[in-house]
Amino acid sequence: MKVLKFGGTSVGSPEAIGQIVDILKGRDHRGKVPAVVVSAFSGVTDSLAAMAGEAVAGNPAYMERIDSLSARHLETAGRFLSGRELDEAGDGIRSLLGELSRVLEGVALLGELSPRTLDLVMSFGERLSAGLVARILDANGIRAGFLDARKLVKATGDFGNARYLKTETEANIRAFFASGDGILRVVTGFIASTAEGQTVTLGRGGSDLTAAIFAAALTADEVEIWTDVDGIMSADPRLVKNAFRIGEMLYAEAMEISHFGARVLFPPTVRPALENGIPILIRNTFNPGCPGTRVVGSAGDGGFPVKGISSISRVSLVRMQGTGMMGVAGVSARIFGTLARRRISVILITQGSSEYSICLALPPADAPVAIEALGEEFSREISGGGIDRPVSLDGLSVIAVVGSGMKSSSGVSGKFFHALGRNGVNVVAIAQGSSESSISAVIPAQHEAKALNAVHEAFFHSATRSVNLFLVGTGLIGGTLLDQIAAHRAALADREMIRVNLVGAANGKRMIFDASGLDPLRVRDTLSGEGEPSNPEAFVERMTEMNLPNACFCDCTASDEIASLYGRILSASIAVVTPNKRANSGPMDYYSGLTGFSRDRGIPYLYETTVCAGLPVISTLRDLHLSGDRIRRIEAVFSGTLSFIFNGFDGSRPFSELVREAKAKGYTEPDPRDDLNAMDAARKALILARECGLSMELADVKVAPILPAACFGAESVDAFFAELERHDADFENRRAMAAAEGKALRYIAVIEDGRANLSIREEGAESPFRSLVDSDNIVVITTDRYLRLPMAIKGPGAGAQVTAGGVFADILRVARPPV
Ligand code: ADP
Ligand code: ASP
Ligand code: MG
Repeated sequence: MKVLKFGGTSVGSPEAIGQIVDILKGRDHRGKVPAVVVSAFSGVTDSLAAMAGEAVAGNPAYMERIDSLSARHLETAGRFLSGRELDEAGDGIRSLLGELSRVLEGVALLGELSPRTLDLVMSFGERLSAGLVARILDANGIRAGFLDARKLVKATGDFGNARYLKTETEANIRAFFASGDGILRVVTGFIASTAEGQTVTLGRGGSDLTAAIFAAALTADEVEIWTDVDGIMSADPRLVKNAFRIGEMLYAEAMEISHFGARVLFPPTVRPALENGIPILIRNTFNPGCPGTRVVGSAGDGGFPVKGISSISRVSLVRMQGTGMMGVAGVSARIFGTLARRRISVILITQGSSEYSICLALPPADAPVAIEALGEEFSREISGGGIDRPVSLDGLSVIAVVGSGMKSSSGVSGKFFHALGRNGVNVVAIAQGSSESSISAVIPAQHEAKALNAVHEAFFHSATRSVNLFLVGTGLIGGTLLDQIAAHRAALADREMIRVNLVGAANGKRMIFDASGLDPLRVRDTLSGEGEPSNPEAFVERMTEMNLPNACFCDCTASDEIASLYGRILSASIAVVTPNKRANSGPMDYYSGLTGFSRDRGIPYLYETTVCAGLPVISTLRDLHLSGDRIRRIEAVFSGTLSFIFNGFDGSRPFSELVREAKAKGYTEPDPRDDLNAMDAARKALILARECGLSMELADVKVAPILPAACFGAESVDAFFAELERHDADFENRRAMAAAEGKALRYIAVIEDGRANLSIREEGAESPFRSLVDSDNIVVITTDRYLRLPMAIKGPGAGAQVTAGGVFADILRVARPPV
């Protein structure tokens, strides 16, 4: 025998009621269900509460609400009933709503709304729905009758939150069904009556409890809670897209997860089921084929120590502190006694081991009452200075991880707090249930969704990683990056379980955002026609507001302005990936601020591609350093342009001709002097010097000029070439002298003994710099371990494909943080 309960959305539309008819007629239920508990139609209880508020304020808007309530129920009746049955249903609805109007008129007239009257007003939702559903079932081949739970369920007079009286209620239910006619009873959820016969409600969401009460009284085999989700999920599916159904869970776990905000089950529901060993099934009215969640006394191993994650969206934290609390017996007892007398239930308590302070998480509406009551209770200590006046912190949420498997596995809290910390979620207070089946943290409310998603990913998708990417700059490198992401995204998701979600993009003119994801291939087109005007500051603000977990900002510009925003971006817990050299070769303070912040706070700041594009130079230096090796010297050819010119300078052509060829091949800036001044190479040398721990500025890097000063005086590029030709003989002279000793000229950066220099050097045949071809870069690292034969990293050090590839790799590092 089973007791079923259908929630608000499960009765809230004619389609849903059609499903109920099918479910009750199905093989699993036909003839096995003595009672079906129903909620009010979805949204009706809220609407009734709003009506009461309007009436007491003298606002006649409540009358329109009554009309629309009437229309909604009559329309549903019309969809299933006809003739006399429809007339009778219409009479029933009109008579209830007539009664409701009179109650509300009284409220409006008196201008007074007591908790008792509010409960009476709210009772109409269930009375309307149960009456109508009973008639619809009866007219559709299921013999059924209406049952007003107030007749049987007796409760305390705590309006809005009454506790049912077990013995009396169970006796009433048993007696009623024993002498009944055996037809299915459609019962009003949520409502009960006091000993004096006054209407009370059991708390919002209380229909679940009504079902459990009936199941317990009738010693049912199961109680089935039918709702609009597949079961109890690993997190609220409205907030966490990847949430999945939990097949089976323990009563204790269900109680904990619902206590911490999983609205799918009203927490007190568990108790009557647990006491009678009755399994609770949570099932989906709109997907009846799904087996749902089974809540039982002992469950199989779910595979994860944590079953689910939930949150309470709005809480306040009331804090009592003072030296007068230290080691004084009975302070907690007085705090809880005071709150209990005011009927305030506490969500969470934390106490520091010094006993210097106690924090209590409460519903925000209760916080002022608690502060006043505690202020009174401790007035003597407060005026004596031993205890501070209680204060409340508002705008908070509680997030909790729940699972009885946590008892026997370590590292759960580490994972929980790492996920919060990595995403910049500040933890205000922490509590762990002594049963060790939950750990909860109080956090700022604005981070709730991000925290839920990040923690969910950390526990359940540790194999899957995601990164939410914001890209600024869609030129050559940014554009190539978009193509690469588009081409590899599917394979990454399949093979590596890494999801790259592009959520924001900007070029110099426009910017667009979409948390559900932009198409990397269409972004450039979209930006040419749509989006808001681009503005770096506004871009940062939008990223911060979106507040997504594992967020990553990628700067594919060469802009100083964008680079100057990295600090703010990292402080918003958004990782930064950049091929833009500006930040790391700017002022030393800025560089050390960024890298220090990243290290201390664990927010990735990755810039491998600022030196030699995709070649693994920075990561190699880091690995050498971490593994205890000492870097003695770095020598490098950092500039593809200079590499090309000097590699080809073999006496067959004059120097100026090589420069012309480099320009023709697109290896130089429009004005080749921007390469030949070696400033770009100097910036890279500076970055590597800093990576080696040197504190220096760009001005400290010594750059020996390649060109005579007169070349820089030339007014145009043509004039420059004319000037350069005048020096061809000098270049050739220098080359020939070196060649006579078997050497060739190379432009090389050296970082050694705390200094960085760039100059033309003469290299013998055995030199690693002689092996360069075309525009290759090379970095030669001499360390304690690589002494006899230095380590050489060689390859193309520029180009859209290799640079974008390196940037892509850094982005994937953000998705896969080193835990
Ligand atoms: P009903 O009206 O059927 O009682 P509720 O709205 O009270 O339904 O509860 C179902 C809702 O609970 C779901 O739509 C879902 O948004 C929310 N919810 C919150 N946390 C969870 C969770 N962990 N698992 C499933 N649903 C959850
Ligand atoms: N109708 C009530 C509410 O909305 C009870 C319930 O749905 O369980 O809170
Ligand atoms: Mg509910």
